[in-house]
Amino acid sequence: MPGTLYLVPTPIGNLSDLSPRAVETLSQADFIAAEDTRVTLKLLNHFSIKKSMVAYYRHNTEAGGQAILKRLLDGETCALVSDAGTPAVSDPGEELVKLCVEHGVDVIALPGPCALTTALSVSGLPTGRFTFEGFLAMNKKNRRDHLNSLQHEPRTMIFYEAPHKLLTTLQDLAAVFGPDRRLALCRELTKLHEEVIRTTLAQAVERYRDQPPKGEFVLVVEGAQPVAENAPDPGDALAQVSALRQEGLSLKDATRQVADALGLKRNLLYSMALEAEKA
Ligand code: SAM
Repeated sequence: MPGTLYLVPTPIGNLSDLSPRAVETLSQADFIAAEDTRVTLKLLNHFSIKKSMVAYYRHNTEAGGQAILKRLLDGETCALVSDAGTPAVSDPGEELVKLCVEHGVDVIALPGPCALTTALSVSGLPTGRFTFEGFLAMNKKNRRDHLNSLQHEPRTMIFYEAPHKLLTTLQDLAAVFGPDRRLALCRELTKLHEEVIRTTLAQAVERYRDQPPKGEFVLVVEGAQPVAENAPDPGDALAQVSALRQEGLSLKDATRQVADALGLKRNLLYSMALEAEKA
């Protein structure tokens, strides 16, 4: 009879957040599959857990996954962990879960630390409906396509971001959603220097323009306001801007003229038109 794959969330900054059930599962599994065995060893040592480990990381999911599957099919139990947070959420694990499901191996997920739910819950923004967008791509086209697809997204949006890319991402978000869109910058959650900055995209850009951000960030961005029945269609507005541009008007003048005529916010239409021209 096949064994079981346990998905075990680990702390995102505060070791006390490892649940008793997680400790028990890690202690009782036949082996642990870890994203980085050196990182997990520190956690295991802290909790006095001695267990054999195998590496399961982004670049060995194929071979590593097959090796883990074989042991599971032979009846062993495996606890999967990533470096921090919930495995399979912007971390290795998704493919292993799929493989196990395909081969009839039971998968049990333990609830626990996860940067996205921690950030969402503290954001102060609507939590009733939200969408997790993970990391934006580095590739310019994929990144632009991703952001454009969210232009009218009404749900709260959650992004992960590395500190060295934060400013560029905030600038790109401001260009698509407009400078006044609210967000919560959730930094170093559960850690000593934990901070939640509730601000707008324009103010966030200003904040980090000359002061490189430090630490780990989750961005929780307010969704688009519902469009009123008789509100102007942004597609029409952009088409009108484009027509004026072809007549030789500057982007600033064209967007001002159309925004005033349609009762739209000038800076929002300007950002949207700028983004459309870049595309
Ligand atoms: N699977 C993990 C989870 O569920 O929390 C996420 C792993 S992903 C590779 C790492 C990203 O999560 C970071 O770049 C950051 O965006 C976010 N993150 C992780 N820990 C964080 C923390 N303590 N504070 C803020 N963001 C964090």
